[in-house]
Amino acid sequence: MDKLTGNKISTSDIILYNGKIYTVDKQKSWKEAIVVKNGNIVYTGSSEEALHYKEPATELFDLKGKMVLPGFVDAHMHPLMSADIYMNQIALFDNPDKKSMIKVINEFTNLHPNQEVIRGGGFNRAAFDEQGPRKEWLDSIEKDRPVFIVSGDGHSAWVNSAALHLANITKDTPEPEDGHIMRDPITGEPSGLLQEKGAMNLILKTLPIISKERYKQDIIYLEEYFGKTGITTVFDAKISLDEENYWMAYKECAEEGKLTWRYRGGWYLDPAKNLTDEIEKGKKLSEQINTTPYFQVNAFKFFLDEVAEEKTSYMLEPFEGESENRGFKNFEDKQILEAFIQLDKEGFQIHCHQIGDAAAQYGLDTLEKLEKINGKRDRRPSFAHCQWVTEKDKKRMAALGVTSILSAYWMATDDYYWDLYLPYLGKERVNNMYPVQSLFDLGVNMAVHSDFFVSEPDPMYAIYTGITRNIPKRIFDEKYALNPIYSRTVNEKDNYNKNEIGPLPPFKESATLEQMIYAFTMGGAKSMFLENEIGSLEVGKKADIVILSDNLFELNIEEIPDVQVEMVFFEGKHTY
Ligand SMILES: [Zn+2]
Repeated sequence: MDKLTGNKISTSDIILYNGKIYTVDKQKSWKEAIVVKNGNIVYTGSSEEALHYKEPATELFDLKGKMVLPGFVDAHMHPLMSADIYMNQIALFDNPDKKSMIKVINEFTNLHPNQEVIRGGGFNRAAFDEQGPRKEWLDSIEKDRPVFIVSGDGHSAWVNSAALHLANITKDTPEPEDGHIMRDPITGEPSGLLQEKGAMNLILKTLPIISKERYKQDIIYLEEYFGKTGITTVFDAKISLDEENYWMAYKECAEEGKLTWRYRGGWYLDPAKNLTDEIEKGKKLSEQINTTPYFQVNAFKFFLDEVAEEKTSYMLEPFEGESENRGFKNFEDKQILEAFIQLDKEGFQIHCHQIGDAAAQYGLDTLEKLEKINGKRDRRPSFAHCQWVTEKDKKRMAALGVTSILSAYWMATDDYYWDLYLPYLGKERVNNMYPVQSLFDLGVNMAVHSDFFVSEPDPMYAIYTGITRNIPKRIFDEKYALNPIYSRTVNEKDNYNKNEIGPLPPFKESATLEQMIYAFTMGGAKSMFLENEIGSLEVGKKADIVILSDNLFELNIEEIPDVQVEMVFFEGKHTY
């Protein structure tokens, strides 16, 4: 294929035979062969029967007994924003501690003397104390140019003095409404950490915009780099109504036939703005940009709350040791209800970021009111992350048809657990995070997300973690093994020693392999109303197909993270 020059990839008809094809159809049936014509599946069944479809131009693939799955769906990520960090900014995702981060930042600034502003992403928030990283550490590397580095979860930014100066943030700057400027406890000067968008935007709005051409390059990089993951459909969970270059890059790539992933997305709604006008604007833009099946924005995105690691998730009970602080509730009840009613009337979907139990509660309260006012219909709202949900609200999620988008990648007693969640939330709450099995049991539609750049897309990792609630050994070795304070445990334990990385309680929430595969394929497809086109390997659907090195059902669980994706087809085109 030739993505860089923009030539359309030819769709030759193909026959895959002699495989172990797990179709994810209703009967969970296995087949030997698939026949594809014009990008669609026209036959599944025996190899013998499939080979009768052969014509002179048909390409044959002998699968030699390999396992085949439908293309994976990542139901909530930030593909373009993340690709730009990897391609054009300081990427700190692989640097666990301060020392290694400083080294990378130093190298990057030296290598890019002409960049006006140094941007970056992915610093490990758990590597610093509650006050976070300091501006002085960046000042010693770069005094003149502004440095702005977003944390690994996207909810804070580490900046130098030049960046603070550019945005005129001083000791006297008042606290922004939906954010927090971290200050030195003695001098009161901003210390270098800006938490949440209200504070981060003070600087972001002063930075130069990213060009459409740069974003188009980012998309091509992204699909090439992550083609090996087997992902073929993604949901971009935050498309800004103000950033034309961003959505135009997708639209043009789609129209030029350059995409080998299918994109859906949600318009980000900023609670500080007039939502009626913003929804009207999003509606008009969607009409303009939904020109192909490869990129469409059919949803609006709400941050019901923020994150636990900044104490900005919205909790039913206060954070540990605080009498009142329950975090951020980002929308007023009346404001969010009016927005739901308006966009629902236009047929848009609702996509919510939800971390805290109180966020789930008011999100569900609003959906119940919406159902009373606009009537019952198959509207499929999504809640991404679902870190804490009460038993009562799990049932309401099922009743309201909410998809729970699993944070499978984050389930383990990892550094966030030890350094941030445990001290901020206490033992009972941290041992009751990320419900999975109980939601499956209630019949909630389940999908999976990487939330890339928060986690690097790697479906085998997420499948393993969904089953074990632990991180794979390979990831432990990369991220923790070099530091002697950490150890890894595989067996479930009731009492962990500090810094023991192991399975996250409650263990009864572990999913099965079948459930994880379902969530990664059909569950994700359903979350975007795409189940008639993708999600399973059945006649009439798009030929999004993944071929694995091993049969997941025949392996020891510990071997799953090392399974390789060997080939990927997107609508019948061989893309990896
Ligand atoms: Zn996200």
